[in-house]
Amino acid sequence: MSDRKIIHIDMDAFYASVEMRDEPSYRNIPLAVGGSETQRGVISTCNYEARKFGVRSAMATGLARKLCPHLKVVPGRMQVYKDISRQIRAIFERYTQLIEPLSLDEAYLDVTDCTLHRGSATLIAQAIREDIRNELNLTASAGVAPIKFLAKVASDMNKPDGQFVIPPDRMQSIIDSLPLEKIPGVGKVSLKKLNDAGFYVCADIRQTDHMQLIRRFGRLGESLWNRSHGLDTRAVTPHRERKSVGVERTFSANISAFEDCWAVIEQRLFPELEVRLKKVPPERLIAKQGIKIKFADFQLTTIEYTRGRLELQAFRELLKEVLKRQNGREIRLIGLHVMLKPALEARQLLLDF
Ligand SMILES: [Mg+2]
Repeated sequence: MSDRKIIHIDMDAFYASVEMRDEPSYRNIPLAVGGSETQRGVISTCNYEARKFGVRSAMATGLARKLCPHLKVVPGRMQVYKDISRQIRAIFERYTQLIEPLSLDEAYLDVTDCTLHRGSATLIAQAIREDIRNELNLTASAGVAPIKFLAKVASDMNKPDGQFVIPPDRMQSIIDSLPLEKIPGVGKVSLKKLNDAGFYVCADIRQTDHMQLIRRFGRLGESLWNRSHGLDTRAVTPHRERKSVGVERTFSANISAFEDCWAVIEQRLFPELEVRLKKVPPERLIAKQGIKIKFADFQLTTIEYTRGRLELQAFRELLKEVLKRQNGREIRLIGLHVMLKPALEARQLLLDF
């Protein structure tokens, strides 16, 4: 694993930077993107000017205002951020196909096999940041390391608009002096427990017995022990996410009447679709539901409704519509499907607005 070259790219104050880019009057003032004050809103992102006052992501807007009375709070423009996120991804794809997005503004890239810039991950990270600056007029920070968690730690070290490289031979010394709160996943509560037990930096963990850590801290102990020894075998996984869920049936004998088709949908396909949908992560939202028909002459046709949730009755309406294309033909196959919204979008909805 230690011969991997992993880059973690993190856009600087992403939403706020986009707003500053697009509105010059926001550039030299403390700015936050986030929820309104009337409905218990929280700050989603703030610029560095606002951070000087102690304003932070996920802070209640009311508190942010107390810390920084002249804070300008603007609503987010998710569609704009998503479009830019796609453009950033297109830049990444010039260098590698192994891209694992963590959110709209953050991703791991495995550039081990990239031959550009003599295969130097340092130069590749620089080039990516330059592309982002030149083409999108935004800044990004990068971390380069042989393992994922260190790449993420590194991208924070020269933020904003900087990068930090951890070569294999400097890995252990950097890990040893790393404060435990810098390890992704170590929250306030865990940190307090660790500090109370006398653990502050990774060296403290590394010098402690493996079993003792596990007994004391369970899974956290196990993963801290691994991190402290520079062990992180997680690969950069460019998961192709599922875009639809569908079920279908080919008939041994063709059918043609509306009620026969409906019986298949109501009694067979719809219950199967419900079961299949239960296996989809609950945060995935439904965008559309649709019907596919294959006629006896093998012509395929589909019809879709935009629907936020699965509805049996909507399929009945769709069936009526789609059978207008029947023209006396028999039907050899019926399928039902649901299109899903992208996972990122669903997660952003829960987190931000
Ligand atoms: Mg960021």
